[in-house]
Amino acid sequence: MRQRILKLGSLILAFLLLAGLSACGEKTATGNQGTSNKPAEIIHWKMVTTWPKNFPGLGTGAENLANKINELSNGRLQVKVYGAGELVPALEIFDAVSRGTAQMGHGAAYYWKGKNPTFQFFSTVPFGLTAQEMNGWLYNGGGLELWQQAYAKYNLIPMPAGNMGVQMGGWFNKEINNIDDLKGLKMRIPGLGGEVLNRAGGTPVNLPGGELFTAMQSGTIDATEWVGPYNDLAFGFYKVAKYYYYPGWHEPGTALEAIINKEALEALPKDLQAIVLNACKLANHEMLAEYTARNNDALQTLINKHHVQIKRFPNDVLSKLKTISDDVVKELANKDEFSKKVYESYSSYRQKVMAWHEYSERAYLNVRANQQ
Ligand code: CA
Repeated sequence: MRQRILKLGSLILAFLLLAGLSACGEKTATGNQGTSNKPAEIIHWKMVTTWPKNFPGLGTGAENLANKINELSNGRLQVKVYGAGELVPALEIFDAVSRGTAQMGHGAAYYWKGKNPTFQFFSTVPFGLTAQEMNGWLYNGGGLELWQQAYAKYNLIPMPAGNMGVQMGGWFNKEINNIDDLKGLKMRIPGLGGEVLNRAGGTPVNLPGGELFTAMQSGTIDATEWVGPYNDLAFGFYKVAKYYYYPGWHEPGTALEAIINKEALEALPKDLQAIVLNACKLANHEMLAEYTARNNDALQTLINKHHVQIKRFPNDVLSKLKTISDDVVKELANKDEFSKKVYESYSSYRQKVMAWHEYSERAYLNVRANQQ
């Protein structure tokens, strides 16, 4: 009898426990439903950029990133894009995002070489990595971790957010037949390429894209590089220069950056943080696809419609520029411990990926060219 009562007691207890659990579950479910029915809070961010508003590929690339964030967050995080000079001048976006005037920026790491020359490794290195190789280093070769360490003291989180592939060498009004033709040349060329030009006897100038046409037209500069046919056609450089040189030895695969204010990112719910970071990855991928698809049509327009003379830098000039580049990059590496670490990571990756690409990309491109 006593046993029976105990058994009954445990059954009742078990029933009550189950009922209790299921009641709790229902409550949680109701709670969740309640949350999702509540109108979500809309967060507004500003994105400042180094590009003219909606400039093809670059300005539109920044817009694309903002749209992706808006779309993926279902409108919970709305990012408004400001062109160069609308909120802050092009070359002040780093500081603006660092101090929180804007929550995000879109530019390139070599614009900030005045803060730390090592940043240039995270945009491009003369005779360095191509776009495909750069993505490999950043995402899977330790590059992005180093980049994030480099920007941490500025309260910024960088993410790769666009690449244009191998650029063109630039616009000139005189032929470059030997390295001495670069002497005395005042040329807009950013980053480490600029330092190489400096050592070759030229004067590098760091100007934002929107100022280049006027600078060429007024003779403030003798030559300029910008990006490649798709962008250079849009700026109309064919009206102010005779020769369009290739290849862009100085920018073989420049990574553009999204810079995100650390506190602004951390203040977001976890899912929105993931959306911001992953939208950068999408934008990075989509920009390269756009340039790959559009450059040749623009090049043909420059040649056939605007009668631009396309010229290849002579091998001797390229080989001298390479020797100077090696010195510039090595000196940069010896600046301090962190620079050395970045240099070693970049160089050892470059060596490995070059070895692999002998068997893959280069071997295939050679075979394809020979079959035509
Ligand atoms: Ca460029």
